[in-house]
Amino acid sequence: MNPKEHTDTSQLCIHTITTKPWKIEEAAKHFSAAGVKGITVWRDALEGRDIRQTGRMIRDYDLTIVSLCRGGFFANKDEKKRKSAIDDNVRAIDEAAELGTSMIVLVCGADQSQSLEESRKQIRDGIAEIIPYALSAGVKLAIEPLHPMYADSRSAINTIAQANDMAEELNSPCVGVAFDVYHLWWDPSMEKEIKRCGENENLLAFHICDWKVPTTDMLLDRGLMGEGCIPVKQIRAWVEAAGFTGFNEVEIFSTTYWQENQSDFLKKIIKAYKENS
Ligand code: ZN
Repeated sequence: MNPKEHTDTSQLCIHTITTKPWKIEEAAKHFSAAGVKGITVWRDALEGRDIRQTGRMIRDYDLTIVSLCRGGFFANKDEKKRKSAIDDNVRAIDEAAELGTSMIVLVCGADQSQSLEESRKQIRDGIAEIIPYALSAGVKLAIEPLHPMYADSRSAINTIAQANDMAEELNSPCVGVAFDVYHLWWDPSMEKEIKRCGENENLLAFHICDWKVPTTDMLLDRGLMGEGCIPVKQIRAWVEAAGFTGFNEVEIFSTTYWQENQSDFLKKIIKAYKENS
């Protein structure tokens, strides 16, 4: 059964990367004017800015900062690089606290020069190492499983079952899962695993977009909801049935849409959100 249509934009969040050509100040202004209520901030959008001041600027536009994107990249054969990844995650936690958001999305990393099992062990150890710091800062860590096409370099966590396993093993109130339809739509155990994620109170974030057919680029050709083959409404029904009440976060990397007038693109996002998500 499909959930109720979104009649307004009160649960709509947009990632800054989605409207990449806009500076964060422009994004906040335009999102707010369009009635969008949430924003997820990518760290590159903060470059050269006072983070606390940027957080205040965003809240003055009546936007909730849903999360900071992104931490992670724990897996590396080189111990020094693993240590510097920990330092970077600690910095990301500080930045999240300064910005005024309570969540970091983790793209966990992978290193093709070692086995996936080894990368997964390093990811688990890396998250375990930053848990005390995240707890003290009041920042949650959302493990985002990525589509297996990225298992060579971006993430050795590729299914929601793996993310659930890891979150349950780490067993901390600050660790959970970010569910992105783009990465997980193909998984036959998705419904069952969404339910499990909710039952363990680990469902922290819900990212939406669409998988275009054919997809011309494995990274930068994401579509608007309704443009591809992902049953976004169906997945939202499962996510809501699992107890999720948070924002629906539109995360689209698209060289096509980044070339468009971003105000026109924002209108398309809102239409697609209401009609197809
Ligand atoms: Zn995502």
